[in-house]
Amino acid sequence: MPNKTREYVLTPTTSTLFKVLHSFVRESFCLLMVLICVIVVSAAYSASGAAYQDRDSLLRWHMLHVSQSGVQGDAHLLIGSSGRVVLIDAGPEQNARSALIPALKEHQVNKIDVMMVTHPHFDHYGGLLTLLESGFSIGKIYMYLPTKAVCERESPWGCRWSEIEKIRLLAGKAGVQIFGPKNFSSFSLGDRAVLSSVVAFDASSAPDWTLNDYSWVLALSVHGKRQVLFTADVNVQLGDWLLKNRNWVLRTPMLKAPHHGTEGTAGNDFFEAIQPLDTFVPAPVELWCSERSRRIREVLERLGSRVFVSGAHGTVTVQFSRDKNSSTRVGYRIPGGEILCLGPVYR
Ligand SMILES: [Zn+2]
Repeated sequence: MPNKTREYVLTPTTSTLFKVLHSFVRESFCLLMVLICVIVVSAAYSASGAAYQDRDSLLRWHMLHVSQSGVQGDAHLLIGSSGRVVLIDAGPEQNARSALIPALKEHQVNKIDVMMVTHPHFDHYGGLLTLLESGFSIGKIYMYLPTKAVCERESPWGCRWSEIEKIRLLAGKAGVQIFGPKNFSSFSLGDRAVLSSVVAFDASSAPDWTLNDYSWVLALSVHGKRQVLFTADVNVQLGDWLLKNRNWVLRTPMLKAPHHGTEGTAGNDFFEAIQPLDTFVPAPVELWCSERSRRIREVLERLGSRVFVSGAHGTVTVQFSRDKNSSTRVGYRIPGGEILCLGPVYR
């Protein structure tokens, strides 16, 4: 290198000019090569970093806190190691701009590969209206679209026909197809994390049931072991059917509580069949601590299940990862503290 420096200080004759020029080109080339090497190495490093993270983290499940202002809402964001994104329900429309969209941004989600609406009640589908209106990228939607007559059986407190029509219209405009849940069997989130359908009823298969009992029940397995049961708003009719016909599938370490952990939901025998170690309740804390949720609080306490409530804990994250022995590890991120329900009894 000192030689080259010396060349620059030579008197600029034709030959030295050529040498200087030659040296400059050679050095520039070297610099360019070094720069390319740096870029390639750093790209490889970050790629291997991502690969390492992928190997380590199999899946993250965020129970999003979309139950602000006392309005209950259900929304679950699943991000697989492959980067695939599933959103199970989207919470109510009134909390979408303040809670759902900021949560998607926080988790760097630019596209939802599969949007699943468990049943046509607005505390589950409402946020989808906002996502479609704001042009959020969605691959496909699975949702039971009821007829006007079926929707209006529970209007306006549960299903609103104008909103069902709007979802159909907005999805059509955006070129996003809507499939019925019966067309779904399973979806891989990468690295043996699989979301699969347990059952999906609708007015054609159970004409007299409530819309809550048309809840699409889903199971999440990681490394071949069932880890989470998503029970949407399972009430008594579907709860009894599951006990009778799918008992073998119920027992699961983690339970997304049915019907916001409040009354009207399945009987105690349903919870006893699941025996959840941890239960995740998407509800405002006022609802969880109210008389309406007393039975569910008591049965879970009797079963020794830990309970996380979105209204009290905020967005709760469960991360499934793999340790050195290739067994699945589960980690939690729980922002809030313990809930005691010792305040005034809400009714
Ligand atoms: Zn609900």
